[in-house]
Amino acid sequence: MSYQGAAFKIRCPHCDDYESHEVYKSDQKIYHWGNEEVPMFERIVGRDLHYRNRIRKCSNCKKTFSTVEMVFDYLEGLINEVKKLENENKDLKSSIAEVGSTLIKLSIA
Ligand SMILES: [Zn+2]
Repeated sequence: MSYQGAAFKIRCPHCDDYESHEVYKSDQKIYHWGNEEVPMFERIVGRDLHYRNRIRKCSNCKKTFSTVEMVFDYLEGLINEVKKLENENKDLKSSIAEVGSTLIKLSIA
């Protein structure tokens, strides 16, 4: 099965229209996020982030919006990192609540 030539559909963030909105501008530069983030991407994906930027024009509302194209590993790495940070945040909140509860008990005694 080949997907070559298949229309790439995406939801417009302005009007929610799900269509194959035309590429208004395709930036030929290959981006990375920033020098500060290089170690983070090397840690979570094994290499620095690289992505392409495109501006699409909605076929319904005619407004433009930006999309990026990147290797899926980056998105997966970012999602895994967010999950890890959310779990650490939950653990920290639990620890703080426990310490607070202990302090209240100590102040009552
Ligand atoms: Zn739209």
